[in-house]
Amino acid sequence: MVADNRKVVLIGTGLVGMSYAYALLNQSVCNDLVLIDIDKKRAAGEAMDLNHGLAFSGGNMKIYAGEYSDCANADIVAICAGVAQKPGESRLDLLQRNTEVFQTIVEPVMASGFQGIFLVATNPVDIMTRVTHKLSGMDSSQVLGTGTALDTARLRYLLGDYFSVDPRNVHAYVIGEHGDSEFVPWSQAMLATKPILTICEESQGRYSMKDMEGISEQVRCAAQKIIEAKRSTYYGIGMAMVRITRAIFGDENSVLTVSSRMHGYYGMEGVYIGVPGIVCRRGVRHILSLRLTDEEQQKLKHSAEILEEYYHGLKL
Ligand code: NAD
Repeated sequence: MVADNRKVVLIGTGLVGMSYAYALLNQSVCNDLVLIDIDKKRAAGEAMDLNHGLAFSGGNMKIYAGEYSDCANADIVAICAGVAQKPGESRLDLLQRNTEVFQTIVEPVMASGFQGIFLVATNPVDIMTRVTHKLSGMDSSQVLGTGTALDTARLRYLLGDYFSVDPRNVHAYVIGEHGDSEFVPWSQAMLATKPILTICEESQGRYSMKDMEGISEQVRCAAQKIIEAKRSTYYGIGMAMVRITRAIFGDENSVLTVSSRMHGYYGMEGVYIGVPGIVCRRGVRHILSLRLTDEEQQKLKHSAEILEEYYHGLKL
């Protein structure tokens, strides 16, 4: 093994998993990419397909369909495996079935001797990340989910468009559950170093908080709109996963709204939820404390309560 080898094992080679894999290849993020799926033929076919693109990529990667034993020396195990909701099935029943899927995944990963970082994308991502933490027994810093990273990217894109500013100069987050109770803490939103609240106040009606609320609603409904148009979403989440993967491999200490375990943050204990975390080679090093208003704190608490309720409804 070369000294700085970067190995990712991807479990679940469906649309999300393969969008992640394709983006990993295009951005030359790792040296080894192992594909695992319950459908072994599919994983093998996906590995062949990606390998045929290697000659056109900028880097050199070893891509193959593998086994759980391949997780032994992996740096990251990314989980995108899941089952689809059956007609009439409740959210909790779906969650229970996905938990059973995760039992068949996390146990063999841990049995391999894996000591790296789990990155979970399967929905509902905050709960499935907590399930992964519980099943693996790993330190919580090494288990993270995509959280509201994609929602935050959507928000920045829309705000950039609204203010005609490069989205990279928009500093704003979507936090909470990756789902209906997520929200934008506007008190923390900035264009460069200027609060968006002030920009709206000073704009003499050109920009308004009413429009801001419209934008946060668009972010909340984005997945649904895409699903209505093309059945599922995958490119955006694949890219978000690559962003998190780069932050880990590069030991970047980047602030990303990943789903991570709370240890007293605004009174939350044990729950996994999307808040700005500092992501480095060891996973989530630290959660950035924000100065939320009372109303924003209530929204975060409400979101955490929803996640607690679902998690405690599970048989683990
Ligand atoms: P998909 O059906 O295309 O792929 C799921 C894959 O999981 C399939 O290839 C299936 O064979 C595999 N699988 C099922 N059980 C398995 C097991 N026991 N072991 C190994 N593999 C198994 O679904 P998708 O569109 O790729 O979505 C995957 C997940 O990602 C879903 O839960 C979806 O809701 C979620 N998602 C999350 C976000 C986010 O922001 N976090 C965004 C989009 C989708």
